[in-house]
Amino acid sequence: MAPRAPVDEFTGLEAARFGVYVHFPYCLSKCPYCDFASTAAKQIPDERYTRAILTELSRRVEQQQLKGREVTSVFIGGGTPSLWAPRSVATVLEAIGAQLQVARDCEITLEANPGASDAERFSAYRAAGVNRLSMGVQSFEASTLSTLGRAHDGATAQRAFAAARTAGFDNVSMDFIYGVHGQTEAQVESDARKAVSLGSEHLSAYALTLDKASLAEEVPLARQLARGEVQLPPDDTVVAMQRVVRDVFAGSGLQRYEISNYAKPGFHSRHNALYWTGGEYLAVGTGATGYVKAEEPVRYSNQRSAEKYLVEVEAGRLPEANREVLTPLELFEERLAMGLRLVNGVDLEAVCKAFGQSSEARAVTVRHLLHAKLVERRDGRLALTDTGFDLHSAISARLM
Ligand code: SF4
Repeated sequence: MAPRAPVDEFTGLEAARFGVYVHFPYCLSKCPYCDFASTAAKQIPDERYTRAILTELSRRVEQQQLKGREVTSVFIGGGTPSLWAPRSVATVLEAIGAQLQVARDCEITLEANPGASDAERFSAYRAAGVNRLSMGVQSFEASTLSTLGRAHDGATAQRAFAAARTAGFDNVSMDFIYGVHGQTEAQVESDARKAVSLGSEHLSAYALTLDKASLAEEVPLARQLARGEVQLPPDDTVVAMQRVVRDVFAGSGLQRYEISNYAKPGFHSRHNALYWTGGEYLAVGTGATGYVKAEEPVRYSNQRSAEKYLVEVEAGRLPEANREVLTPLELFEERLAMGLRLVNGVDLEAVCKAFGQSSEARAVTVRHLLHAKLVERRDGRLALTDTGFDLHSAISARLM
């Protein structure tokens, strides 16, 4: 059984309340759709990067007076963290444990790329304290993987999953992408069926996004799209693909708990739930974004360039690119939009009250949405219906 966590009062979801995010930016190659803070590296500066992480961690714990704070989730994301030497991962987890109070049943996730995975390496991560793996499979189809520029093939992904089991991981997640150039609904269904046949505890499936407005940086595949060299499936096909995924996953006993996330009972991600329920997270590493409420609720983002990040930390500075104090209105809008991503929905009246907003002013909109069957009342909360999920952004905007 996955670790337990407190229940969020506005959504009823078990979620970590304070977590740590550690970013590892290096990859074997750069995928053409990827806008994460990641960089292809022939030689990874493992020791140098680990030292920088330890330095930033201590500095932030001290400056933000977090010493001894209880941590219920740690997420090591990337990039490709499964390229990070297990002894370095162990050192980072030890440092977190020495400065913060890591809960006995803390969820500790590491992201793995099937192309950089083997049972020995996974066993070493497990010995270091990692208890959950999240694998970037994306697809088992050669043509889809090739469009996405992924170096692994479907068989490698299946071997990586088996290696995780051999290493003793009983909490494994896999990520998939649909809505890719040339991809058919039948291929999406085949991916979903293979995914559930492996018996993973948690699956995520996201539609490919190449829209400039929603990307952190322009990516090569978006430029190819603009030049007409690739075409994405039309919106209604993408919606149909999402429904195929939903039906296959649900048919195998996985519960959808968020727009794009499905889990066996008790295995939803406590760390991701923290993001959707307004929890705090200390973030370290290249491009990492953190949110802490010290005297004020502050969100910061680190430098996205790995080299710049290292130089800043080594010069004794915090490697930040942005820092903003969030207003009650921003916190309200985020809580509402994130809560509506959840199948549980969100207690609109309670969130309005907590952030000084009027629920009466939204009553007419809610009535219209209920009438249109885009939302429904679920356990006293306002929740999107299946049709409403397809219109999540527009509905959130109307309620704001
Ligand atoms: S492996 Fe992941 S993080 Fe690295 S470039 Fe590809 S998509 Fe981006």
